[in-house]
Amino acid sequence: MKKTFREKVMHKCAKLTSKHTFFKYPCLVYMTLLFGIMSIGRYFASNGRRYVGIAFTLLFFMSSCSFSFAVFSGQAGFVNTQEAYNAIVVDSDVALAVEKEVASSKELALEGTAETVKEYEDVEDIINADAYTLDDILEDTADYALEDSGTVQTEEELVFDSSDWRLVLVNKQHPIPEDYSFSLGVIKGSMLCDERIIADLLSMMQAAKADGINLVIRSPYRTDDRQESNFNQRIREYMRQGCSYMEAYKASSRVITIPGSSEHQIGLALDITSDTYIPLEEGFAETDAGKWLARHSCEYGFILRYPEGKEYITSIEYEPWHFRYVGKEAATIMSQENICLEEFWDEYL
Ligand SMILES: [Zn+2]
Repeated sequence: MKKTFREKVMHKCAKLTSKHTFFKYPCLVYMTLLFGIMSIGRYFASNGRRYVGIAFTLLFFMSSCSFSFAVFSGQAGFVNTQEAYNAIVVDSDVALAVEKEVASSKELALEGTAETVKEYEDVEDIINADAYTLDDILEDTADYALEDSGTVQTEEELVFDSSDWRLVLVNKQHPIPEDYSFSLGVIKGSMLCDERIIADLLSMMQAAKADGINLVIRSPYRTDDRQESNFNQRIREYMRQGCSYMEAYKASSRVITIPGSSEHQIGLALDITSDTYIPLEEGFAETDAGKWLARHSCEYGFILRYPEGKEYITSIEYEPWHFRYVGKEAATIMSQENICLEEFWDEYL
């Protein structure tokens, strides 16, 4: 009678063991492994169809889930429920933090605590040092001040184009496009921004002045390095208070935009306060200048980019001083309908 494979193996092992007792245990292990693998293989082979079916079903569910994920679906667009949005924001925070942790943790670990505190304060000092009123600015920007900033489209012809530079959407989920380019113009000294917004900026400052309000421009265009360094300073500050890197990263990303996702880096955002209220704090909203800007900035193409009550969409805390240029037509709609840029994209683009 013909021997099976199993019998052949057992026979060979028995022969080997009888000659050399040393091989007793290695043979036992070898046989157990071999027969184990064979029986698993046979089990799967006899249930093949069933497992292929299960694999396809799982694949189908996984692919349909990822395509229908709230923010990315055509229907839900940029804005969904608060819970869904929070989940996405947390996910993206963690993903970005993990990505950055490798690069930054070494660098952060090398620096002493006392030194980092000082550095952090220095950054605040630098930010506070760059602040110009309209009178300061006009010495350098006479050309822009005389320019006509363009006509406003009438209601019927309002059509928005997603490729319009004024409407570019930049946030945690939408980093600055790699091919985005623009020309910098000088506001005053080393203070720069996209040159196309300077005329409207000056018109706004002049109008505010006529109403007795001296707006002060601070921190317009920031280089990538500057944004990165501001962000890292904030992380260090949180870590000094006892947060882990991940916690510090998440907390920082709610008060400073993640490098690569800041509108300051494309020259379309400005921090604006007044000569009577300098700090970048929520209290600015209650000042005359804060109220004037909230009401009139849209007439000059600017919007309060991170409004109160929209934090779950913008994922940035309320910043009554941070203004973003979007053009007069879009700004007016956003102001009238009380919607932020993400919601505007949802409805109009
Ligand atoms: Zn800002």
